[in-house]
Amino acid sequence: MANVSSAGLRWGSTCFWSASSKQSPPPSRRFSTVIKSAVSVEKKGLNLQKSEEVFKAAKDLMPGGVNSPVRAFKSVGGQPIVLDSAKGSHVYDVDGNEYIDYVLSWGPAIIGHADEKVNAALMEAVKKGTSFGAPCVLENTIAEMVISAVPGIEMVRFVNSGTEACMGALRLARAFTGRPKVVKFEGCYHGHADPFLVKAGSGVATLGLPDSPGVPKGATADTLTLPYNDFDALGALFDEHGGDIAGVIIEPVVGNAGFIAPKPDFLHTLRKFTKEEGSLLIFDEVMTGFRLAYGGAQELFGVIPDLTTLGKIIGGGLPVGAYGGRREIMEMVAPAGPMYQAGTLSGNPLAMTAGIHTLKRLQEEGSYGYLDEITAELVAGILEAGRKAGHDVVGGHVGAMFGFFFTGEPVHSYEDAKKSDTTKFARFHRGMLEEGVYLAPSQFEAGFTSLAHSSHDIQQTVEAAKRVFQSI
Ligand SMILES: *Cc1c(COP(=O)(O)O)cnc(C)c1O
Repeated sequence: MANVSSAGLRWGSTCFWSASSKQSPPPSRRFSTVIKSAVSVEKKGLNLQKSEEVFKAAKDLMPGGVNSPVRAFKSVGGQPIVLDSAKGSHVYDVDGNEYIDYVLSWGPAIIGHADEKVNAALMEAVKKGTSFGAPCVLENTIAEMVISAVPGIEMVRFVNSGTEACMGALRLARAFTGRPKVVKFEGCYHGHADPFLVKAGSGVATLGLPDSPGVPKGATADTLTLPYNDFDALGALFDEHGGDIAGVIIEPVVGNAGFIAPKPDFLHTLRKFTKEEGSLLIFDEVMTGFRLAYGGAQELFGVIPDLTTLGKIIGGGLPVGAYGGRREIMEMVAPAGPMYQAGTLSGNPLAMTAGIHTLKRLQEEGSYGYLDEITAELVAGILEAGRKAGHDVVGGHVGAMFGFFFTGEPVHSYEDAKKSDTTKFARFHRGMLEEGVYLAPSQFEAGFTSLAHSSHDIQQTVEAAKRVFQSI
């Protein structure tokens, strides 16, 4: 599937990044007019009355009205749509509006929402009890599936979220190597545990300072940050700290700073350096696992990490996470070994069931070919529509994960991503919502496709994008 050329990575026929024409943007005077008319269209074209009522009440009940920040639409303005149901590639809000969904619960719904087989299996599982707090055979089933799918995983521990998975992997890397430091990349997200909440430093690697109040300096003092795709900074950091580095954690394809692909050989170089220094390489595949390929980014790029974190897809829409890796490392985890980590609901039969049946669907022949094809078509269509309307847009995809930025230059790092015109993105986002297309409500999130997306969905989305790009 992957075809690596010296001119840059290419996937099928679609280039990762295509720069747009350099036409100048429309005069800013027009912007204010457009914003005003977009607001009035919102009132007329999209009835969000119930969404507004529910969200207004929610703001009094929960911080910001949500249980996870990006859902509040803060970075695109306006207010969130409150969803009532989801089926296949579509979601439906409480006012009865229908949207083609490219958020997919932030990744898990790769076979589409409310899949019949997953639902049926869940109904049966519910009858047998929702949680045992004791071993169940479903844990073996999904563990075998994960181990045979993901090249770097010989043993696995299930937890309840991606955050927990990354916490476990970090503790394990420190336990196994007896070293203190962890390296992460700017713009990469590894859940909200203290040591990972480190402000993106600029330029060369900097010692991490906490990114959120409440995180003590001590918690991030051993977190080193590096710019993504920067070979020189990586080399310098290893020269300075090599022997102290327990592990390097990375999103092998970034989704949490918008979509950013690794440069050819970046992951290989990381593998080489970590191996030489005796540091563990940790792929955070919470997003990319079972999404870019059945064996995740590590299968696609041919780089095998020591530890891997998973989440999202392997729970089929129920709360789940997992970390796994080489047997000798995993055998340090309690009760096989001394590294403590536990969970009341870990390995619960509902999450295991949804995961098993989601993976079974993904095993069907042609799944990943189809995902790659429709995602390529979607991204090519969006970029062409943007270019024809005179916007600077770049973007790309790997398998069923995609993204685009409002800038003329290729994006290889979080610094590059931040050059995107987020005001324009916000207008684009609102326009697409009006057109019945639900994109992630932030420039700095990736988009996702599913097996339930039809080529009709893709064509409709591209047609909508053409109209919206003309209007912003
Ligand atoms: C979503 C995500 C996490 C966190 O997972 P949660 O289940 O939200 O805790 C960690 N790493 C990556 C790469 C993610 O995309």
